[in-house]
Amino acid sequence: MPVNPQNPPLYKIAIIGSGPAGIYTAEMLSRHQAVVQAQLQISVDLIEQLPTPYGLIRYGVAPDHPRIKGIVDSLHRILDKKEARFTGSVRFGADLTLDELRDHYDAIVFATGAAKDAALDIPGTELRGFFGASSFVSWYDGHPDAPAEWPLDAEHVAVVGNGNVALDVARMLAKDPHDLSTTEVPAHIQRGLLDSRVKAVHVFGRRGPADAKFTPLELRELGEQAGVKVVVEADELTRSQWPDPATLSTNQARQNLATLEQWRDNPPEIDHSRSVHLYFFHTPISAEGEDTVRSMTFTRTVASPDGHTEGVTEGVPSVTYSVGQVYSAIGYRSAPLPNVPFDAAGGVIENIDGRVSAAGVPVQGLYATGWIKRGPVGLIGHTKSDAKQTVEHLMNDLLVMAPKNSSGDIRSLAQAKDLPWTSWEGWLRLDQEEKRQGEEHRDPSGVSKPRSRTKETSRHVMNHIASGKSDGTSWS
Ligand code: NAP
Repeated sequence: MPVNPQNPPLYKIAIIGSGPAGIYTAEMLSRHQAVVQAQLQISVDLIEQLPTPYGLIRYGVAPDHPRIKGIVDSLHRILDKKEARFTGSVRFGADLTLDELRDHYDAIVFATGAAKDAALDIPGTELRGFFGASSFVSWYDGHPDAPAEWPLDAEHVAVVGNGNVALDVARMLAKDPHDLSTTEVPAHIQRGLLDSRVKAVHVFGRRGPADAKFTPLELRELGEQAGVKVVVEADELTRSQWPDPATLSTNQARQNLATLEQWRDNPPEIDHSRSVHLYFFHTPISAEGEDTVRSMTFTRTVASPDGHTEGVTEGVPSVTYSVGQVYSAIGYRSAPLPNVPFDAAGGVIENIDGRVSAAGVPVQGLYATGWIKRGPVGLIGHTKSDAKQTVEHLMNDLLVMAPKNSSGDIRSLAQAKDLPWTSWEGWLRLDQEEKRQGEEHRDPSGVSKPRSRTKETSRHVMNHIASGKSDGTSWS
């Protein structure tokens, strides 16, 4: 398309979801060489269903991981440059349809992540006391849609899975809640954790220690919790399957194995009030109980040559553990979005390298990035390379199409529908208020313990503070 360098065409881009995937995409769009070289101009709207930005960093990273939470600072800097405009409290699919957005935007990027739990397909998951990890994570991270209270009423609890989420859940269940006093955990959640009856957390992996998905740093951290003893449960059957470290091909596996062997062979002798027990080669087959979980049963497994697991049946009975709660941490799933092609088997938006596709054919103007594009694996930094690929395709497509030149956008759509929204300035007000409350924070014994922020958990209060208006009727 011929371009007038004095007045390059303007394209409007909407990004749905303001977690790292959405924000990195916004940043890469604005830095793209086609923009820098004035081949085209872009305006980017980040549209978020929550009143606040940052997605999984705010509502998925555990409060005792300030280093990872610190990624917020760089995301803040990107949004503060106003290269993308934040609009919160507007739900794609519920408040706005795809067609409505398509009328005004030349490209729409879905960056909605993966917030649901993958289903553990065994009997007993309907019992009281059986939880998906994501609900517990939402609770301790103060998500506005999570319940205010969590029933931490069992002494022995099971965590199923051997990923970093399983370790987060195990650590938060076992940790002394006093150690959270300087974190951003909301006060009522810290009190809930202080009332917990949990004494022992039992973590079950279906494969062996060398195939665990958790990362070495996070594993070692489990052993650094004051008053928590880590026990590696290795009976004759499982011990005989522990690999020779020399045969391991990845650094992660070697480091994990070294830590686990250390704990197995030299169990730490520490004063403890709680313990975390790590079991390997245990595949869950059922949870049992009348109406509440009372126990969990596992078949013993061996790793098959292809890296999967096979049940060991002959001569090796299944094993049942008495537990009063189960947390299933076997991975996340993305939710399908209305009228956006979804690959149900893969749990992602159907896409070809970031271009949304239907039955293998790209759908013009629609893109995906982050976990909803490739599935819920990888650390936060991985979303950058992902965003780069999607942005490259998007920009190449824009360069050969005419802009819609619509005068409407998310704000005019919201206004027409009388939908209140939160803006970047509104978030800055809420951010400031949370930080102010954090400075005034006292721990449960009344001792002054300032922290980076105290998170507000009520959607209504968040919207109200963001509005900056005393009646809070019209947000912005
Ligand atoms: P994950 O790393 O994929 O781990 C899922 C675990 O569940 C695996 O151990 C898997 O075993 C197991 N599993 C799957 N299906 C199962 C079944 N039917 N029965 C029993 N076990 C089953 O997922 P995640 O823990 O949800 O983490 C998602 C991503 O977020 C990861 O990239 C993770 O590193 C990242 N994350 C990072 C941090 C951090 O602090 N750095 C914190 C949280 C999350 P198999 O391996 O045998 O399939």
